[in-house]
Amino acid sequence: MVATTEEVLELHGRVRKCTACPLHLTRIQAVPGYGPATARVMAVGEAPGENEDREGKPFVGAAGRLLTSLLESVGLDRRDIYITNIVKCRPPRNRDPEPLEVEACSHYLDEQIGLLRPDVILLLGRHALQRLLPGAGGISRLHGERVRRDDRVYVPLFHPAAALYNGGLKETLEADMRRVRGYLADAEATRARRAGGASASDLRKVAAAAGGDQMDLVAAAAGGDQMDLF
Ligand code: SF4
Repeated sequence: MVATTEEVLELHGRVRKCTACPLHLTRIQAVPGYGPATARVMAVGEAPGENEDREGKPFVGAAGRLLTSLLESVGLDRRDIYITNIVKCRPPRNRDPEPLEVEACSHYLDEQIGLLRPDVILLLGRHALQRLLPGAGGISRLHGERVRRDDRVYVPLFHPAAALYNGGLKETLEADMRRVRGYLADAEATRARRAGGASASDLRKVAAAAGGDQMDLVAAAAGGDQMDLF
């Protein structure tokens, strides 16, 4: 069963009021997450930056624009993806989040994953990788790989911010994103099989999506509820 918009909005409301770690003292506003409650793909970054702190939405600066173009390059629409961070408030001067801040905030991300139960979770950068796949290995080795753990599929990727000034990393991200598209088709086929209701035509669509129009499938899986959450 997918999450309802009300459930996700209720969680967002709690994040906005949260004072559980010192980051609430320096934020303009918390940035809970953004995207439809029915999203089958979740992207998890590190923490909000200056633009995100001001606007209350994740990945709205230059790194966010690069993320959008990377998704579009493989036929994915950012509006179909739920995007969040491991820490919901901006660390001062964009420093790395402290371990105690990550610990205080972690349950919100766990709740988001538990509610949305996405088919694929994109881990943007080493902090997200360490938080959700502790002990799995470094981002240099795992980027672009599909990692299954606890019945979930994760794909570590370099953080788009790291690729802004490094053309080599941008090419790597583009290549990794092309692999993500295939993973999505596989995940969709698995979900259809588990539901037991996959018709022959469903499975043909899934197979075609690996090299064809993946967004048809994502949109179909999302059903009618595409309301943005913020
Ligand atoms: S970073 Fe997380 S735990 Fe800290 S105040 Fe913000 S929402 Fe609460």
